[in-house]
Amino acid sequence: MKKILFALIVGILALSHAPSFAQQKSSLHAHVHGQAQLQLAIDESQAVLSFSSPLDNFLGFERAPKDEAEQEKVKQLLLQLQNPLLWIELSPAAQCQAGQIKLDSPVITGKQKTNDEKKHGDLRFDLELQCKNPQHLRSLKAKLLQQYKGIHRLKVEVVHAGGQHAKTLQADEINMTW
Ligand SMILES: [Zn+2]
Repeated sequence: MKKILFALIVGILALSHAPSFAQQKSSLHAHVHGQAQLQLAIDESQAVLSFSSPLDNFLGFERAPKDEAEQEKVKQLLLQLQNPLLWIELSPAAQCQAGQIKLDSPVITGKQKTNDEKKHGDLRFDLELQCKNPQHLRSLKAKLLQQYKGIHRLKVEVVHAGGQHAKTLQADEINMTW
């Protein structure tokens, strides 16, 4: 009987660990406080910037705001998101302009249904960029690492016709070239 119980517990443990392990395998969807991910896909005339971070990095919480001070934090974050190119500066010579932003974050868009304290929440968005000279899009400067102390590491992936590049940036190293 003891043996069966043990096997059962091991089985349950293995199951409960499965989702977090799967999450860690995909670098773009890992939810690790202090870390954020950025992917830049460069096409012939346009580029798409995809960003993902635990909300905790920006707000210090990941559920719907509880009071005025927290509401103010969310408001400020939404204001900042009106121009993400102030967070991520791209090669000026490329002359990229931010187009539509697709924001996926129920907590800050007010669509959060539950207020479970234990639930994690992300800030995710895709931003379309129109670039006059996409061939000159050869570098980025992750200024948000200095603007938001909650982000310690930003994993960046750049995909373009010439190949794929990856680098982890930190507050004392915010530049990446490819
Ligand atoms: Zn979290």
